[in-house]
Amino acid sequence: MVNLRIGNGYDIHRLGPERRLILGGVDIPHALGLVGHSDADVLTHAIMDAMLGALSLGDIGHYFPPSDPQWQGADSLKLLEQVIA
Ligand SMILES: [Zn+2]
Repeated sequence: MVNLRIGNGYDIHRLGPERRLILGGVDIPHALGLVGHSDADVLTHAIMDAMLGALSLGDIGHYFPPSDPQWQGADSLKLLEQVIA
């Protein structure tokens, strides 16, 4: 018997000026970037939500709320490391 868990994750950030466009930790040169409290890496956020959802552990907003200044400009790959741990 295989213990298989599946999670779905999605995330949305709007594009805006004077922001970096980071997808999956890759900094993509572009005139617009993703707006958010952290680095707004929408791909990494969706992966984290899928992992947390598969384990019924809530979502990234619970662990890294935008109301908490410690996550301002956070590197989402560092947040992913915490989710994996
Ligand atoms: Zn996000």
